[in-house]
Amino acid sequence: MGNSMRNYDPAPDLLQDRVIMVTGAGDGIGRAVARSFAAHGATIVLLGKSVKKLESLYDEIEAAGHPTPGIYPMNLLGANLEDYLELAQRLEENYGRLDGLLHNAGILGPRSPIGQYDEEEWQKVMHVNLTSQFVMTKACLPLLLKSDDASLVFTSSGVGRKGRAYWGAYAVSKFATEGLMQVLADETENQGNLRVNSINPGATRTKMRAAAYPGEDASKLPTPEDIVGTYLFLFGPESRGITGKAYDAQ
Ligand code: NDP
Repeated sequence: MGNSMRNYDPAPDLLQDRVIMVTGAGDGIGRAVARSFAAHGATIVLLGKSVKKLESLYDEIEAAGHPTPGIYPMNLLGANLEDYLELAQRLEENYGRLDGLLHNAGILGPRSPIGQYDEEEWQKVMHVNLTSQFVMTKACLPLLLKSDDASLVFTSSGVGRKGRAYWGAYAVSKFATEGLMQVLADETENQGNLRVNSINPGATRTKMRAAAYPGEDASKLPTPEDIVGTYLFLFGPESRGITGKAYDAQ
């Protein structure tokens, strides 16, 4: 833990010819990371809930002259294995492989003590933040293993490494995400080309952060654009061989 590549200085063509899928690409950190990946030469599959947000990012990437991205609208809350297998099939048809998958989409859920935590909300948070990532990974694993140099990254949180009062299912889902990352890293360690790591973005100026800390002066926080360095490092060739590690983006 405690690794950060915030000041990473990537080559302009770092991600040339890589196909990378980013979940929750329409807003916040996912949007900034997807844009930066495209600017460094990657073909990005933009997956998210709001089609409008994905389309506006698609237009931005096209207008900037970066590789044409793909759009895949999907609500992780309702999706099941069949939906993920269809996604994997589409990726296979279009690209033949996957060089990277960033599990970034997430929801905060209620901020409430465990004694009062609503069970349905608990299930929703665990589903979006953890179970959907397991099933998507399961469906996409064969495509990742087809790549010569693939990177799988899960998104954690400070409360996924040390529990804190009132963070409920969000904190628990992030701890479990670290567990899933470690299990997968161990399982794939000798399979050659796939590395599996996690990133804790740290306090970042997004809608989720504003919802968690309504009274905070957001102008003092780093923007999503400020923290892309660690993401670029983990999806580029220089992180080859690094697996099972928990990173901090700040
Ligand atoms: P935002 O709320 O700004 O963005 C979350 C993204 O996830 C949105 O694009 C949203 O899509 C997508 N998403 C949410 N629910 C679903 C769903 N059911 N199906 C598909 N997509 C969904 O959050 P951040 O950018 O702040 O957070 C990104 C990641 O970083 C999260 O995993 C979060 O837990 C983590 N994180 C953030 C920190 C911060 O300070 N910002 C600190 C620590 C961790 P749409 O907009 O279409 O709803």
